[in-house]
Amino acid sequence: MAFSETMEYAYFEGQFVPFRDANVSVGTHALHYGTGAFAGIRGYLDQDGETINIFRLREHAARLLRSARLLRMDLPHDVDSVVETVLELTRRNAPTGDVYYRPLVYKSSVQLTPRLKGIDDELAIYMMPMGDYLDTRRGQKVIVSSWTRITDNIIPARGKITGGYINSALAKDEAEEKGADEAIMLDVNGKVAEGTGCNLFIVRDGVLTTAPITGDILEGITRRSILQVAADLGIPTEQRSIDRSELYLADEAFFCGTGVQVAWIERIDGRVIGTGTEPEMVKRIGQVLFDTFRGKNDRYADWITPLKGGQPAAVR
Ligand code: PMP
Repeated sequence: MAFSETMEYAYFEGQFVPFRDANVSVGTHALHYGTGAFAGIRGYLDQDGETINIFRLREHAARLLRSARLLRMDLPHDVDSVVETVLELTRRNAPTGDVYYRPLVYKSSVQLTPRLKGIDDELAIYMMPMGDYLDTRRGQKVIVSSWTRITDNIIPARGKITGGYINSALAKDEAEEKGADEAIMLDVNGKVAEGTGCNLFIVRDGVLTTAPITGDILEGITRRSILQVAADLGIPTEQRSIDRSELYLADEAFFCGTGVQVAWIERIDGRVIGTGTEPEMVKRIGQVLFDTFRGKNDRYADWITPLKGGQPAAVR
């Protein structure tokens, strides 16, 4: 990512600094061993045209700190301080449109042994303007990857651990080289896990179904939000293991996540899903979320942290 595509200030080693100064040593432990964890958070421009609505900020901060716990990190942060740091960074960068935040916790010592304990840890956060990650106006073309999803006893997929994303990258490349947009990964038992950077739902006979959180998936915050919205709309939901063949028979399938938002799937392994046009349930649920992002849905108002009138501030 070029510097020009990120916003001016970052949080780094306890201070707000110009993004170009937020740099680590080439000897950094996390760079060698993948001993980091990250978050991806979106801020949306409210319908008022000036407020930035940050979606489920506390939940993202809490998951980041849980991932840090998996990596035995000792950080001088709790959920409140991560939230406050994101808010202060937003004030300093004073965005005027939709943004994406990338908080990262990482093992920062220059240290040769691949271990978790006794290594210094840091939190860094930067942000950038961001629109769609996948083109959500059209259906996604998807393959089932030949790469198996990492399992809990190898690298826990429920944490957003940097090293685990090699698994996603292998599957994403395979999808793109086959002319697809995205990959679905199966777990070690051949059951459906998730996409490379998103959770997956299918609809069969009116039941909205997704893999359970013990199914080697990231404990997705959008996934959890969708299960809540569906319950509130009276849509039956199930969290259970899903067979590969159920993908092909589904009436609807869609990805969800902070980056992809809600993206419906048109084809899996060349097979048309449902009618091959944007289906009903994903449209209904997606609309609730997109309205919430823009501050147009009071029911889920507590899912957004609105920040008004961010002013650029001098670098400290
Ligand atoms: N699974 C993976 C592997 C991801 O990287 C993401 C993106 N964070 C998700 C699922 C979706 O999670 P969330 O809704 O919390 O962004």
